[in-house]
Amino acid sequence: MTKKYDLIAIGAGSGGLSVAERAAKYGAKCAVIEAKRIGGTCVNLGCVPKKVMWYGAGIAHTLHDATDYGFDIAINGFSWETLKQHRDEYVSGINSWYHTYLKDSDIDEITGYARFIDAHTLEVNGEQLQAEHIVIAPGAYPVVPSIPGAEHGITSDGFFELETLPQRVAVVGSGYIAVEIAGLLNALGSDVTLLLRREHLLRPFDAMLRECLMEEMMDGGVNIITSSQIGEVKKQDDEELELICADTGQQLGRFDQLLWAIGRAPASSGMNLEMAGIVTDEQGHIPTDEWQNTNLAGVYAIGDVTGRAQLTPVAIAAGRRLGDRLFGNMSERKLDYDLIPTVVFSHPPIATVGLTESEAREIHGDAVKIYQSRFTPMYHAFTKHQSKMAMKLVTVGAREKVVGCHVIGIGADEMLQGFAVAMRMGATKKDFDDTIAIHPSAAEELVTMR
Ligand SMILES: Cc1cc2nc3c(=O)[nH]c(=O)nc-3n(C[C@H](O)[C@H](O)[C@H](O)COP(=O)(O)OP(=O)(O)OC[C@H]3O[C@@H](n4cnc5c(N)ncnc54)[C@H](O)[C@@H]3O)c2cc1C
Repeated sequence: MTKKYDLIAIGAGSGGLSVAERAAKYGAKCAVIEAKRIGGTCVNLGCVPKKVMWYGAGIAHTLHDATDYGFDIAINGFSWETLKQHRDEYVSGINSWYHTYLKDSDIDEITGYARFIDAHTLEVNGEQLQAEHIVIAPGAYPVVPSIPGAEHGITSDGFFELETLPQRVAVVGSGYIAVEIAGLLNALGSDVTLLLRREHLLRPFDAMLRECLMEEMMDGGVNIITSSQIGEVKKQDDEELELICADTGQQLGRFDQLLWAIGRAPASSGMNLEMAGIVTDEQGHIPTDEWQNTNLAGVYAIGDVTGRAQLTPVAIAAGRRLGDRLFGNMSERKLDYDLIPTVVFSHPPIATVGLTESEAREIHGDAVKIYQSRFTPMYHAFTKHQSKMAMKLVTVGAREKVVGCHVIGIGADEMLQGFAVAMRMGATKKDFDDTIAIHPSAAEELVTMR
């Protein structure tokens, strides 16, 4: 017998859970279908376990600074196994919480892989399900290059399965996942080489952030090799890995572990989208309009599969707004994709919102005025290990409206959320200047820049 719902979400990740949860609050009969683990990438293989590891890495840094603050301590070791065990228990706790939450919210949780039969009918484990509204939220998966020996490497998924701290690691990639994993492995004691295909890491970010992070990572002990395209991976008899450069044939290092962090592809194949008449682009992303509508009435896409701003809070916000629109009588409710703040949990962290300097100059030309500052935060005033802080405000026009705010340094991750609110409200440089500083803090620099 075909089960009928008002709304079905494909994927119980950030997007799928949010839309079902919001729709159910309005009384809609909902189901979420999940092929793997509830919570999706963020909970199981992304933000959450990554942030736990980042905290661990931060403790390693603090321990190194402790003697400069007068503590007589001896570090007797670090147990990756303990950290992993606690992290995995924490994640399992979140999984359990979600199972209970869905039950309490009267949302059906269906385990299995969903495929379309037609625009309003899905098939899971041989059963048919129908809904007036179907939301596609299957996320994305890490890409592995098509080169000989690529299978000897792992991806961020495999990183979270590592049972021991790898000694010598090659991380290939220049995006935020590459930078974050390289940074935390380095802090926890691995010997890390970061291999970039071009000259820069974090290409879409403001140049100040990119340059500053590159210096900080190199100062902190990460070996960064630029302009290197890997053409082959060879596994030696002793299990060590050799990387061969595609163009020069140069042999790079010997590594115990290789991690590919070269991008993520939309998880859209395998769902019979074409058969149902749902359009995808060349990369497999599902294009949507500003209301998250696909080309087919009653079928929507949210989250990473749409290829836009691939972040958990974006998937959540898109899902909640879609739920409001479909079942909450808010016909104008939709997500504004401008001014999305984001943090890179590097060492030190980066926080950024709005236009980069070069984007602003391209759009606004000479109307752009930049304020920036680079300094040593007080925490590092007398520590042997020094880490700089850099900040930039991008302003436009005579009123100096703040259209970009970029920070790298200790505490940046917790600094920017409030400034993002101010920017959404149209804050100008004068509004920043008129705000009384919190002293002593690093954040005060953002309201005192000349
Ligand atoms: C290492 C890493 C670190 C990250 N760190 C951050 C961070 O710090 N901050 C941040 O904001 N974002 C971060 N992200 C990105 C964030 O995880 C994603 O943007 C977010 O999870 C996207 O949500 P989603 O709902 O689109 O997809 P997902 O959360 O990936 O959920 C999709 C779910 O759908 C399931 N699925 C797929 N196809 C089917 C099918 N046909 N049938 C049934 N189920 C299916 C999948 O198994 C998956 O569980 C990180 C990602 C990674 C990989």
